[in-house]
Amino acid sequence: MHQARTTCPYCGVGCGVQAEIDDDRIIGVAGDTEHPANFGRLCVKGAALHETLGDHGRLTRPRIDGVEVGWDTALETVAERLHATRRDHGNHAVAAYLSGQLLTEDYYVANKLFKGFLGTPHLDTNSRLCMASAVAAYKRAFGADAVPCNYEDLEEAELVVLVGSNLAWNHPVLYQRIKAAKQVNPLMRVVVIDPRVTDSCEIADLYLGLAPGSDARLFNGLLAWMDDRDKLDRVYLDRHTQGMEEALAAAREDDTSLEAIAADCDVDVERLETFFHWFASRLHVVTLYSQGINQSSSGTDKCNAIINCHLAEGKIGLPGAGPFSITGQPNAMGGREVGGLANQLAAHMDYHTPGAIERVSRFWATETLEPDLPDGPGHKAVELFEAIERGEVQALWIMATNPVVSLPDANRVREALARCPLVIVSECMADTDLLPYADIVLPASGWSEKDGTVTNSERRISRQRGLLPPPGEARHDWWIITQVAREMGFGEAFAYEHPSEIFDEHARLSGFDNQSGSFRLFDVSGLAGLDRAAYDALEPIQWPVTAAAPRGTARLFVDGCFATPNGKAQLIAIRPRQPRQALSDVRPLRLNTGRVRDQWHTMTRTARSPRLMNHRGEPFIELHPDDARSYGMSDRQLARLSGAGGDYIGRVRLSKGQRRGEVFVPMHWTGQFSGAARMGSLLAAYRDPISGQPESKHGAVSLKPL
Ligand code: SF4
Repeated sequence: MHQARTTCPYCGVGCGVQAEIDDDRIIGVAGDTEHPANFGRLCVKGAALHETLGDHGRLTRPRIDGVEVGWDTALETVAERLHATRRDHGNHAVAAYLSGQLLTEDYYVANKLFKGFLGTPHLDTNSRLCMASAVAAYKRAFGADAVPCNYEDLEEAELVVLVGSNLAWNHPVLYQRIKAAKQVNPLMRVVVIDPRVTDSCEIADLYLGLAPGSDARLFNGLLAWMDDRDKLDRVYLDRHTQGMEEALAAAREDDTSLEAIAADCDVDVERLETFFHWFASRLHVVTLYSQGINQSSSGTDKCNAIINCHLAEGKIGLPGAGPFSITGQPNAMGGREVGGLANQLAAHMDYHTPGAIERVSRFWATETLEPDLPDGPGHKAVELFEAIERGEVQALWIMATNPVVSLPDANRVREALARCPLVIVSECMADTDLLPYADIVLPASGWSEKDGTVTNSERRISRQRGLLPPPGEARHDWWIITQVAREMGFGEAFAYEHPSEIFDEHARLSGFDNQSGSFRLFDVSGLAGLDRAAYDALEPIQWPVTAAAPRGTARLFVDGCFATPNGKAQLIAIRPRQPRQALSDVRPLRLNTGRVRDQWHTMTRTARSPRLMNHRGEPFIELHPDDARSYGMSDRQLARLSGAGGDYIGRVRLSKGQRRGEVFVPMHWTGQFSGAARMGSLLAAYRDPISGQPESKHGAVSLKPL
């Protein structure tokens, strides 16, 4: 029996895990007391990790058209068919759709193969559904996708504002940290802003149950309120920001009286004023936001409305202060670091970053390829599947995600895949809703087998270690991609034998030719040159990691200097917009979607643990008792929701925490676990015009008893 340290594969908190291994089995897990994300804590999902393992149900051999084949045949076929698609339809007919479940090394080689060597910009990820709006807003405000805060800031804050985040369920260890900090410091205040009364309200000193979609109006109102009362930090604004007057003018296009803001947001005036007063009168404020803000057709604006308020009072770059986006997935940040979004090129560089295309081309030595790197962004997630539907994309490689469940208008996604001439799926499980649409299925390794790094929501890179051998012929994603690259004739550039070599290349690219500009923020070149032993022993560390900051960087923008061309942060003029999915007589209820405490994504892992299934064991529809009465429904009755692209059947759960006229459904259930509870089929495919993030929190549905 021995112990090993690794990282939890679920949420963006990125907790360290101590695994107890006996005879090629993980027999128990505990929180890693040394890991700075959790200091020994685990939530119930993390604590049940060992209960979700085992070979049963795993995909163990490659399949082509449903027939099991050996790896040689599978790799040759993938390479041949990708080559044929490029030859017959051009490079841009090939695409990849990745996942925040992949490790940074997997992401790096996929990005390098598709953008660098196959010459297609169409590589996106399910992280688009998670935090793309937060990324776009950070870039607009700071000139870079750079999270300024860290988890300690949540404990050092005088005021923590949770907006669009049920932290107690979705990032439980951070919730526990705030709760513990509040016990130590009774003066600390917590405000929860959310249309639903959630378990996070247990630690709330103030709750604002605002109308869905009114967040930008609320923070615009706060900005104007602070200005009216002379609360703005004019010195900070003058020295370190620009755009304040335009942001204020936009905020003042609406009535800025407390009564008008309260009416538009559907909150109590006194509570609103208390929140404004608390925010304005404290310097050490962290506003933590998540999918409730991001998953909106105006998500980027909502994020910037929050950031504006922080910049207006200089609440950033200080201990216990800053606008803090918490990612959903364990490695949503790592994917961003290597360029795993369609609007990025590589290593946090966008296509329009000065010199980026030439720099990356030189580093990857792709100058001699015909053609070289793509010269502009590719299709973002929803657009990608629309391009497949139009026949523009003819070959798609999906890794570690299930778009027929998670994307909006999910039935249309299914139809698009059915029409796509080549669908390759890398997957751990033998039976998912996606696999019937795959021409080629490649068995991938999973948590406890995969070996590499992830980056959590506070920019902390941690090792996820390979503790057990993959079952059967399952292989690591980086290996599969590398082998396909070799089959396609790119062997020299993909001669990796171990993930440490990929990490080294990623670290070197992050600092390559790094002379100026925002690129330096993401520099992890201080981690280049690690040999296997040093890589394996790598302790959790926050980027940037450079020669000047070899132990990492806890907090960004402490000097008030941002990554914009003139070093000043940009306030953005925000004009609040209503959700695109409009209510109507046909669909009169506002749909909200999200996670439940003990499940993860499509439940391929968490459904294996009986105790996790005990919490919420079946798909449900949460609604207010008054609404239930008006529909003639009772608790636990089966009901059907009908939305833009399909139906969802679930059991009614009555909750007074639900606003009237609104329903909530979980995102986890699939056709595999339940015939008709795929939440993605209820949503129309509207997305934010800047970030491309779908509007998953604002569906419009009708409700009928069954
Ligand atoms: Fe895992 Fe997130 Fe729970 Fe930590 S809080 S144990 S990372 S699911």
